[in-house]
Amino acid sequence: MRVIGFHIDNYDDHLYKVASENRLIPESEIKEYCKINKHNIVSWFKIKSSNSDSDIHDNFRKLVSEFIKPDAKLALVLIPDSFHLANNIETLARRMIHIKSIGADIKCTNPDYPDPFQNALKYLSFSNKESFSSSKSGKEIIKKAYRGEVLGKIPYGYKSHNGRLVIDDKESKIVKLIFNLYSESFYGLRVISKLLNQRGHKTKSGRIWTPLTIRSIITNRSYIGTYTRYGIRITSNHEPIISLDLFNNVNSILNSKNTTKKKYYKSTFLLSRKIICEICGNSLTGITRKRTWKLRNNESKSKVYRYYRCEYRFQNVSDQSKFHSLLNADVVEKDVKDIISNWDEDFISNLSPVSSKTYTQEIEQAYSYFANAFQDYAMGKDNISNLENSLKRLDEIRQNKNVYLDKQNHIIYHQIFSNDIQESKTSLNQVVSKILIQNNKINIFPYV
Ligand SMILES: [Zn+2]
Repeated sequence: MRVIGFHIDNYDDHLYKVASENRLIPESEIKEYCKINKHNIVSWFKIKSSNSDSDIHDNFRKLVSEFIKPDAKLALVLIPDSFHLANNIETLARRMIHIKSIGADIKCTNPDYPDPFQNALKYLSFSNKESFSSSKSGKEIIKKAYRGEVLGKIPYGYKSHNGRLVIDDKESKIVKLIFNLYSESFYGLRVISKLLNQRGHKTKSGRIWTPLTIRSIITNRSYIGTYTRYGIRITSNHEPIISLDLFNNVNSILNSKNTTKKKYYKSTFLLSRKIICEICGNSLTGITRKRTWKLRNNESKSKVYRYYRCEYRFQNVSDQSKFHSLLNADVVEKDVKDIISNWDEDFISNLSPVSSKTYTQEIEQAYSYFANAFQDYAMGKDNISNLENSLKRLDEIRQNKNVYLDKQNHIIYHQIFSNDIQESKTSLNQVVSKILIQNNKINIFPYV
């Protein structure tokens, strides 16, 4: 196969040592890879500076133009790692999608992470902040970060020695205690912070422990030896204090506590409090019912059903109570969305959405949607179109930054059809005041 090599040339040789022990310099690694796989190198793109994206960007543009020339022949593009193609995950996603859209492909020569998307999850990070890395001080800091040197705050449990993180004996014992208390007992963040304060322990800055500081300890990947800073993530950068198993265990306990909370606040019912009971005018609430039944071979099967129900339906056992509304949620949600999808441009322009979100909130939400789509795609859980859509939406919001407050009807309207149920619901709530269903006919009342 024809191969094009693409890599940062003027590289810092600390950069590679921290990435992995047994790696060659980029050019040699690409050559070696081609020798083993019987590939034929036809050209090279060598990026002079590893500090800014503009040089990578220029080379990437030239690479693309090679592929779209009339006499272009296809070739596989080889990079050593994702950070040779972009310095943050969003840029990487855009470049990968671009390359794939013209029928070409990029692979990493890193033997552990050949897929550029997975490689990016390992070596790059999500950063919603714009162009930090291209600023002057940013460049210096990134250089240091590539070497895994200590920048800024040293995590509790470590101290700095010749610019590297080393374990602090006294503090690391407390870190271990926190992780063990959290994983082995039923102690929550508050109790653990109290306990440490009672024993007279102080934080790095000499303050008392709070549930928040405990939380920041148990979620900090530094304790498993990972270094994360300014878009660079290096595993096995320094000696870990906590084993990966314990860290994962503690974080899954923490997350499970978070999700129960979220479930309580977050309803997955798109139309709750919007549909009105046709008998009494009360708003319907979403309920789920799990039905379990036994099969002949004694195995049991179960299915979850979702309904919107008027709370008076079963309360008074009178002749009337059975007439209060009970609706199949899946069916009514689909029907409502179908009707809304037929609203025309004029109608949408005349809407007056309530409690609109700010630009920053929109960007943050769209970015987290992108981050999820990227991870799902990298893990093979999803197709690339979701990832593309998430980037399109980011663009849409960024482009509308200035006119955001005047012209957001269409943005809100389109978000009703989002795959993210929470976003869909928020947008629908901004636009629809109530829904009345009589004799199977749905009437939607928008805010106008
Ligand atoms: Zn009712």
